[in-house]
Amino acid sequence: MRMPSTKFQSGDTVMGRWPGSSLFYEVKVLSYDAKNQLYTVIYKDGTELELREADMKNPTGFKPSRRSRSRSPSRRRSRSRSPARTTRRSSSRTVSSTFIAETHNARKEPKLKEVLEVRLVPVAKPIENNINNKHEKTEENDTANKVNEKPAEMEPEKKVVESRYNLRHRKDDGDAKPAEQTEEVEQKPAVATAPITTELEFGGRLGVFCMTLLLPATVLGLMVVCSQEDASLMSSPPLPALDSLWDLQVFGMVVLWLLFQALLYVLPVGKVVEGMPLKNGERLKYRMNTLYAFVLTVAALGAAVHHKIDLGYIHSHFLQLAVSSLLCSVLLSVYLYVRSRWATQDLLAPGGNSGSVIYDFFMGSELNPRIKGFDLKYFCELRPGLIGWLVINAAMALAEMQLHHLDYPSPAMILVNCFHLLYVLDAFWHEEGVLSYMDITHDGFGFMLAFGDLMWVPFTFSLQAYYLVHHPNHLSLPWIVGIVTLNVIGFSIFRKANSQKNCFRRNPSDPTLSHLKTIPTATGKSLLVSGLWGLVRHPNYLGDLIMALAWSLPCGFTHILPYFYVIYLSILLVHREARDEAQCRRKYGSAWDDYCREVRYRIIPRVY
Ligand code: NDP
Repeated sequence: MRMPSTKFQSGDTVMGRWPGSSLFYEVKVLSYDAKNQLYTVIYKDGTELELREADMKNPTGFKPSRRSRSRSPSRRRSRSRSPARTTRRSSSRTVSSTFIAETHNARKEPKLKEVLEVRLVPVAKPIENNINNKHEKTEENDTANKVNEKPAEMEPEKKVVESRYNLRHRKDDGDAKPAEQTEEVEQKPAVATAPITTELEFGGRLGVFCMTLLLPATVLGLMVVCSQEDASLMSSPPLPALDSLWDLQVFGMVVLWLLFQALLYVLPVGKVVEGMPLKNGERLKYRMNTLYAFVLTVAALGAAVHHKIDLGYIHSHFLQLAVSSLLCSVLLSVYLYVRSRWATQDLLAPGGNSGSVIYDFFMGSELNPRIKGFDLKYFCELRPGLIGWLVINAAMALAEMQLHHLDYPSPAMILVNCFHLLYVLDAFWHEEGVLSYMDITHDGFGFMLAFGDLMWVPFTFSLQAYYLVHHPNHLSLPWIVGIVTLNVIGFSIFRKANSQKNCFRRNPSDPTLSHLKTIPTATGKSLLVSGLWGLVRHPNYLGDLIMALAWSLPCGFTHILPYFYVIYLSILLVHREARDEAQCRRKYGSAWDDYCREVRYRIIPRVY
C-alpha cells in the first residue's frame, strides 16, 4: 500500500528509535496514521509500536562499520559512560541476530561520536537479581530464579516462548556474528519536530477548562469554611466581600516573597548536579541549595520577629495572600504559555503540545523553561510553596497562642507543624531525588504546576494548622503516641521507597541495592521488582498516604475538612499512578506487563 506524501512507505525497512532512548533498531513500516502523524512499525522481536517520522531514519544513513572489533570504540569506552548500559551481566545465550547502533549526541560532542554497539538478545527470564547472580537470595530459589541461573540449558522453544529483550554489550557476544552497523554522521542534523499531543488528559479541553476555574475556587472555599465555627463542608458560609480578597500591599508581600526566594535560589552555594537525560540526550544542571534557602528564610523571619514584625499578619490576611498567590500563578502561566511558542521543538513536554490554547496553557508546553540558568519550574517546585507552607504553619501556631492565650501551641498544633516540617525538610535533604519526579521529567510547566506550587500547596496543605486555630482539639497521650507511630511508619515507607528508586536510577550498580531483583527492559533500564517495589507498584505513594492520614488525625473527628488533604492525595495519587502506568507501558512495553504480573497491586497491598 502506498502512503502518499510520507517519507516512508508501508513495507519499508528503516531504523526506528526505541521510545525513551536514543537507540535505533531495524523496523518494518506497517502503516501510517495521517491524523496522528504516526507510523506503525514492527521490530524484529515482534513488538509493534507507533513512531513519529523524526524517530525514524533511512537505513542508508546506517552503514556497516569497517572497523575491526578490537578497535571498536564501544569496547574502549567504560561501561559507566554508556547510556544503554544494563545492570545485568546476563547469563542468557544469544539467539537473536538483531543489531543496533547508537549515536548518543554524536553531532554535539565529538567524543560521543564513539558508537556503542549493543544488540538485542532474548533474556531467558525477566526476573533477576541486581548486578550479579552471585547476589541471588537463596530463599528465593523459585522456578524463576532457577531458569535465570541456567538459561543456557533451556530448550530452544522455551527460549523463544519466554524471551524478553535486553540490551547487551557486544563484548558479551561470544560466537555471535554481528551485523555491525554504525550511523553515518549526517551532514545536516534532522529538524526535530515535537509530537502533537493527541491523548488529552484530565477530561480534555473541557476538563482542564473547568479545573482552571474550579481549583482556585476550591482553595478559597475551603479557607472560608475553615475559618467558620461550623466548619462543615455542607455549611454555606457568607461569601467574603470582594474587597476583603484583595490588598495591594499583600500582593506586594507575595511578590517580595517570590523575589526573596529567587535571590536565595541563585546564591552560588550548594553543589550542582545533572538532571535526568532529556530527549536529546542532554542533561540540565541544577544547583542543590534549597536547604540553605530554608535556613536563611528562617533566619530572616527570626530577625523580623525580633524587630517586632507580627507574623500574625499571615493569619489575618490569609485569604488575600491566597488570592495574590493565585494572581502570580496566573501571570506566570500566561508568560510560560507565550514563551513556549518560541521554545525549541524537541524539548517540549510530550503532554502539552495539543494545539489547544486552554489545554496547553493548563498542561504546560515547555518541559524546562529557563531564563539564562534560572529554571522556573524547578524554582517553583520546592521553594516558594513548600517553604511558604511551613511559614504559614508557624504563623498559625502563633495565631493559636494569641487567640487562646496559650504559652505554647497545643499538642495537636505541634504535631501538625512537626509532621509537615519533617516532610518538607526531607524533600529538601533529598533534593536531588526531585529531579527524577514526574513533575520535572515529564510534565510541562503550565498552569497546573504553577498554580499547584504557588497556591495549592501552601494554602491547602496548611489547612490543618489553620483549622486548629479556630477548632482546638485535645489529644490524649495514647492518641499522640498512636499518631506519631503512624507517621513514622508512613515516613519510613515513603523515604525508603523513594531512596531506593532514586539511587537505582542514578547508579543501577549501587552495591547497597545488589540484593534487589530487577526486570530488564529493552531500553537498557531495569525495574526493581523486590523489596518495597515488589510489594506494590508505588510504595512511595503508600507511605505518602499513611502520612497524610497521620497529619489529619490531630484535628479530631468533628469535621471532615481537615481530612481534605488525605482525600485529595488519594484521588491525586490514584490518578497519577494511572498516568505513570500508561507512560511506563509505552516506555517499557512487554517488560512493564511482566512487572505488573509480578507485582499485582498498585498502591495498597491486597486492596488496590
Ligand atoms: P515516582 O517517583 O514513583 O516515579 C515514577 C517513575 O519511577 C516511573 O515513571 C518510572 O520512571 C520509575 N519506576 C516505576 N516503577 C519502577 C520500578 N519498579 N523500579 C524502578 N523505577 C521505577 O512518581 P512521582 O514522581 O509521581 O512521585 C514522587 C514522589 O512525590 C512520591 O513519593 C509521591 O508520593 C510524591 N508526591 C506527592 C504529592 C503531594 O501532593 N504530596 C503529589 C505527587 C507526588 P523511569 O523508569 O523512567 O525512571
